[in-house]
Amino acid sequence: MKRTKGKKAAILFLLPVIALWGCGTGTKIVKQQKTDIAMGTIIHQTIYVKDSQEQDLTEGVMEQIRMLEQEGLSRRLDTSELYAINSKAGSPEGIDVSEEMMELLKDIWSVSEASEGALDVTIGEVVQLWDIDSYAAGERTDFQLPKEEELKAALEDTGYERVAFKENRILLPENMKLDLGAVGKGITCGKLTEYLEQQKVEGAVISVGGSILTYGSKPDGTPWVVSIIDPENTSDNIGCLTLEGQWCVSTSGSYERYVEVDGVRYHHILNPATGYPSDSGVSSVTVLTKDGLLSDALSTACFVLGEDKGMELAEELDAYVLFVDKEGKLSMSEGMNKYFQAW
Ligand code: AMP
Ligand code: MG
Repeated sequence: MKRTKGKKAAILFLLPVIALWGCGTGTKIVKQQKTDIAMGTIIHQTIYVKDSQEQDLTEGVMEQIRMLEQEGLSRRLDTSELYAINSKAGSPEGIDVSEEMMELLKDIWSVSEASEGALDVTIGEVVQLWDIDSYAAGERTDFQLPKEEELKAALEDTGYERVAFKENRILLPENMKLDLGAVGKGITCGKLTEYLEQQKVEGAVISVGGSILTYGSKPDGTPWVVSIIDPENTSDNIGCLTLEGQWCVSTSGSYERYVEVDGVRYHHILNPATGYPSDSGVSSVTVLTKDGLLSDALSTACFVLGEDKGMELAEELDAYVLFVDKEGKLSMSEGMNKYFQAW
């Protein structure tokens, strides 16, 4: 999952470990920081731990992310469970899946149902046909619009409602390919929450591409501040979220990965009904929830649904949502007001 051109070139650097004193507790708190690349995107971490914690937890976090990518979620790596599932599509007796993967798939399917297919991870063939990731990353330069008949054929291999689940097995129709790009970074944030808990971390903020996890608290007691990118001018922010404790924030935006041809932008968020980049009048959608998978799944679904239906869906699923439309107008669900401050 590659990001916009240029971002891939981000340098790997380690910031120094800084010692701080926990708010009135007398405990010495150490700050660990790291920027790295995994899942085809940039990972930024700031973690606060007691100084008795000798391990560099930013390394532990990277291990968790790489494990999830290599063993679970990657569509491209032949070591992953997702790759194995896709390679057995069409098997009449179904495909055995791990308990963990089954749980994730069921959660994803519940968002597909609630969004009436605006989120549909069965569109792998269509994603592959456009291959926007490779062009946006500069790995390919020969961009051409997919031919109508190719797109039609790829669309025929999709459809979340054509998939059956039986005990620990999934039945995928022949040629169907699952692509977890719309949910993978949020799933990662959920997984990292468990890891930070196990490691008894005091506080952390970790961004995995478009999904950001906040956890615990800072030693000075101030809240976490998460900036929201201006889709029209991506070096600027439109405002920020002020958060305390554990949250997951996911943003889907047409500025993240795209190819521009003759002034038309072909971005990476597809409308499963047409197979074309979604054109719902939205430039970006930010979703705030406690659950990582839900925030990432909803950011994609709400982007495809557009403002009115997206707002309804987020409210139905108890998530807060912020839309930026193509004219730069902001609109948010009621609960979001409490956390979001426009500049
Ligand atoms: P996100 O940036 O979270 O909105 O996810 C976008 C990624 O999810 C794309 O790069 C595709 O891999 C995949 N994708 C695109 N459109 C959809 C969709 N409507 N439903 C599910 N996955 C999608
Ligand atoms: Mg998403």
